[in-house]
Amino acid sequence: MLALFRRYPALAAELPHRPLGTWPTPVRHLKRLSEECAIYVKDDGHSGEPYGGNKVRKLEFLLADALAQGASEVMTFGVAGSNHALATAIYAERVGLRCISILTPQRNARYVARNLLAALATNAELHHYPNEPAAVRGSQAVSARRLAENGLRPVVIPGGGSSALGTVGFVNAAFELAEQIENAGLPVPDKLYVALGTMGTAAGLLLGLRACGLKTLLAPVRVVHPDIGNIEGMRRLYEQTSALLRAADPSFPDVPFDFDGIRHEQYGERYAVFTPAGMAARRRLQELEGLRLEGTYTAKAMAALLADLEAGALKGQTVLFWNTYNGADLGARTAGLDYHDLPVEFHTYFERPVQPLDED
Ligand SMILES: *Cc1c(COP(=O)(O)O)cnc(C)c1O
Repeated sequence: MLALFRRYPALAAELPHRPLGTWPTPVRHLKRLSEECAIYVKDDGHSGEPYGGNKVRKLEFLLADALAQGASEVMTFGVAGSNHALATAIYAERVGLRCISILTPQRNARYVARNLLAALATNAELHHYPNEPAAVRGSQAVSARRLAENGLRPVVIPGGGSSALGTVGFVNAAFELAEQIENAGLPVPDKLYVALGTMGTAAGLLLGLRACGLKTLLAPVRVVHPDIGNIEGMRRLYEQTSALLRAADPSFPDVPFDFDGIRHEQYGERYAVFTPAGMAARRRLQELEGLRLEGTYTAKAMAALLADLEAGALKGQTVLFWNTYNGADLGARTAGLDYHDLPVEFHTYFERPVQPLDED
């Protein structure tokens, strides 16, 4: 049972939930990174098999909701190499649904080809559109066609899975952490670093931490355009998620949005463009601790932590890094697959060079 449901059993009766992952995810002390402070990682890398990372927590709620609505298909959104779109494709198939992925262009990197090939191994239907407005129109056309064909529209899961319901997955994650603090002797973190994309992860963690009475400062490190990741949006998502939980169980605490702010300085040129600081952080964590980070999200989040460490701002503190990236190898699933079986617009990610800082 989820940690959140153990504390608020009425929520288990009210909210759609389908187990997909392996909980709790481990917490590990990163001993070699610093002698000045205690740095831990909460590692969601193997949150699920065959594909881990932060999206599994959201999909347990979102796919259960689609099933409860009687859907046979879900539709979701992302860039070509979206971890969220891949996770949705994999776990939708697991629960007997089919995923329609509406994808848009992004800067090329090796993981884009890997994720596309892994999606090809599922029953997902992949569509490519050249930009956002075309993707919106395209998704409406696909949806209307499905309605005409089978009398049912696909259930829409927003990009990143960051609806209020998906965000509940990360409220639970904070309760899971609180149990590990209580039972496993883990010290209460003074500060928590996590990558900020569509904000469900950070908004859910903040709400969950405060609902548990933990005073941990949250440092979400923005890796997306400020139109997508910003404090107003984070507050809205926090409040919508709080309202959803309190409607399901009025005893869930009403905790105000108490927040220090988003970290903006690691963003770099744009989304999914790797940065020198991020790649240096990636190499350092790989060498010292055997922790695998990637350039789009987790390396930039770790770069913020290392910059604070370097500046002496973390002396004597307990620091937690939330690893949101999949740690499972997709190689076995994609062996023998041919990218030519993908829609032709995706072939460019296999044929054109990757960005210069890509080492992965
Ligand atoms: C999606 C994603 C994030 C961002 O999570 P949001 O809830 O969208 O803010 C962080 N890290 C990785 C690896 C992701 O795939």
